[in-house]
Amino acid sequence: MSDPLERREELADALELVAREAREYLAGLDRDPVQPQGSEDILDALPAAFPETGDGALEPLRELARLGAETATRSSGPRFFHFVIGGTTPAALAADWLASALDQNAGAWVASPLGTRLEVVAVDWLRQLFELPSDFKGVLVTGGTMANFVCLAAARDWCADRLGASVADQGLASVPQIPVLTSGYVHASAMKSLALLGIGKANVRKLTRDAAGRLDLDRLGEELENLDGDPAIVIANAGEVNAGDFDPIEPMAELAERHGVWLHVDGAFGLFARLSPRTAPLTAGAERASSVSSDGHKWLNVPHDCGFAFVRERDWIRDSYAEDADYLPPRDDPRPSFGYSAPEGSRRARALSVWATLRAYGRHGYREMVERHLDLAQHLAHCIDREPHFERLAEVPLNIVCFRWRPPGADEEQLDGLNRALGAALIKDGRVFAGTTLFEGKVAFRPAIVNWQTQAGDVDLLVDVLSELAERVPVTV
Ligand SMILES: *Cc1c(COP(=O)(O)O)cnc(C)c1O
Repeated sequence: MSDPLERREELADALELVAREAREYLAGLDRDPVQPQGSEDILDALPAAFPETGDGALEPLRELARLGAETATRSSGPRFFHFVIGGTTPAALAADWLASALDQNAGAWVASPLGTRLEVVAVDWLRQLFELPSDFKGVLVTGGTMANFVCLAAARDWCADRLGASVADQGLASVPQIPVLTSGYVHASAMKSLALLGIGKANVRKLTRDAAGRLDLDRLGEELENLDGDPAIVIANAGEVNAGDFDPIEPMAELAERHGVWLHVDGAFGLFARLSPRTAPLTAGAERASSVSSDGHKWLNVPHDCGFAFVRERDWIRDSYAEDADYLPPRDDPRPSFGYSAPEGSRRARALSVWATLRAYGRHGYREMVERHLDLAQHLAHCIDREPHFERLAEVPLNIVCFRWRPPGADEEQLDGLNRALGAALIKDGRVFAGTTLFEGKVAFRPAIVNWQTQAGDVDLLVDVLSELAERVPVTV
């Protein structure tokens, strides 16, 4: 008896089991090790035999819950500072459960008026949250990568149109190489998107003026001058991953307007600087861009996966993604089909989480959360500055603190190896989770604060655990 139809009475028990287990897991999020010890061995030992006959729903769910408790990285908890990974607000998480229970296909209005209407509202609320003008039209995607992809696809197609061609119809062979100009801050996912879009990574010119990767604005002006009116794409980076720094968006917008090129702003987490008057000036000019991308599963604290793309003229998205089939709604249907604005056809109703969390906490709640994170980043910077064996490497404009361990007596050549060793010890220890990067060629820590639950005690623990572990990493001088 393995046919799900014959076992359908399990549903209520299955949902209850999962609710119970999830409650327990979440209650331990701020106390359990961020990376449980021994997880790899447990995962490697998972039986891989293909089940010819099923066990029914409850057995695998119990096992999944056990595996989650024993091995899941508590990246949605308050002590995970690696990458830029947010948690899930209670409203967003529960709405995401509902999104699965309702299982709406948000690809077309006819498939789900509910999912579609909530997406219309949710993306407009996001637009208002970030104070972007009303001619920006948005769409929900799976994350910052796809948000970059959608925006850069629109940029590519706009450039082709300026040259009298259509990539959607004739392909890339119908246009000359499209110039892409940016700084060394450009995110790997924008590069990946340009690879997927047929523009190519090697074709991107990074106009940097120092080892951190800052934009050389004068060179950008010269390069745009040299284009002689040809269309091009300029990418401004709002919130770079090592230190949370920003390209000078306003002067870039100025140049883009003067030369008639497409300005894309990648604001995966940096766009949230707009939520506080303290940091909003960093993103000044984003409202003048042609497209803006950001992430939901980072600072918005909705579950994976969620991102959003805003494009000033929605038609550019529509041209890239429109599908024609006799059973599909017409392209000019006044009731929108988001499958015509995004790479996917059938789509998860991500709007439910976004809508619920914005309704639950509003502009004020999100501003308070962002400002708490800004304060915590300054607090962390202060703690680092106070400790003689740590060295801060960059200013802290937003929510990332870039620093390294610098034991007295150690010389420059040793520091990279020592910081890598300390980074590995930190992850193995598991009480807090932060990773290393290369900043201006130096191995450095770069904890990012984006989780709604993170408080001063969590940040203090990061400094304490690093100091404690540093005592045990052998330093030979
Ligand atoms: C995280 C990030 C991305 C990619 O986002 P994903 O959600 O991981 O796809 C793009 N740009 C920047 C600046 C980011 O920080």
